[in-house]
Amino acid sequence: MNASPPLTDSLGRRIEYLRISVTERCDLRCAYCHPQPDARSVPRDVLTVEDVVTVASAALRLGVRRIRLTGGEPLLRRDLEEIISRLRGLPGLQDLALTTNGQKLARRAAGLSDAGLARVNISLDSLDAEVYAAATGGGDLAAVCRGIDAALSSGLAPVKLNVVLTSRAALERAGIPAFVELVQQRPVHVRFIEAMPTCSHVGYLPAGEVLDFLSREHGIIPVAGPDGGGPAHYYQLDGSRGTIGIIAPISDPFCARCNRLRVSARGELRPCLFSPGAFDLLPALRGPDAAEAVMSLLEEAAVAKPGRYGDVAEPSGVPTMHVIGG
Ligand code: SAM
Repeated sequence: MNASPPLTDSLGRRIEYLRISVTERCDLRCAYCHPQPDARSVPRDVLTVEDVVTVASAALRLGVRRIRLTGGEPLLRRDLEEIISRLRGLPGLQDLALTTNGQKLARRAAGLSDAGLARVNISLDSLDAEVYAAATGGGDLAAVCRGIDAALSSGLAPVKLNVVLTSRAALERAGIPAFVELVQQRPVHVRFIEAMPTCSHVGYLPAGEVLDFLSREHGIIPVAGPDGGGPAHYYQLDGSRGTIGIIAPISDPFCARCNRLRVSARGELRPCLFSPGAFDLLPALRGPDAAEAVMSLLEEAAVAKPGRYGDVAEPSGVPTMHVIGG
């Protein structure tokens, strides 16, 4: 089935994970991700269902095994279930995941699961309703909590929650204890993630500070954590049902283990989050022999993958996360 050699970059890293951003529309305005609080214009979605399927199947033919759909907010696409059911049937796919802000997850979780989605990551920077609403430009915490419940009851497991760390003050507002209580009660995995400087105003808090706090206040045991192929280190807290994960791209970069390529909502293929340039997939997707043309671009992107994001980091030249997809 997989006649082509597996996608490997010039440093020997196997590329087995593809993130596809299906829209840059978003219903929230987290400052570190979508720094245009007043941007109400609605960009049209560039990638069609067929485009996403073509890109995914080209990647799978090159040995990619995991695909994550992201955005913008992917649940703003009404055809997301169709995308998922088309991807689910592709040979070679071992893991199909979604990253969402959870605002609209409650009423779609069961349908997403039926369509073939395996699991979800939900962004949730605070468990305090007012802090959450202020940080997200009007997000509804209760809706996300209903979304988490719906994901758990629909079998979208494991459920991982992403908390982006931008400053100590923001973390204090978000409150680690509330997240600790959550993993003690629910089988969810809360990952604290150092903010990446994709917008110039974004600061970050070293994730080690969360770990210091947890080790002072709780017994923490390093554990394997839920499978997912990502860079998180996981810890269990005395008897917790879930885990706490730490993702530290700034203070402990994991580029040597990087296994991914990204397709932005504009159809740009990025070798690295910080690549100043990208490969435009649209001419390939709209031309003859789209699958072969996309495979060639995937191979070129793998070769162009830098050894470390620090070698290419040029935040001013990089689109913000709501376009790249995180
Ligand atoms: N709208 C969805 C959501 O909120 O999860 C998916 C898109 S969002 C761009 C994907 C992930 O990127 C989220 O978990 C978000 O927290 C993360 N993210 C966005 N900007 C980031 C930054 N500057 N540093 C680290 N993570 C970031």
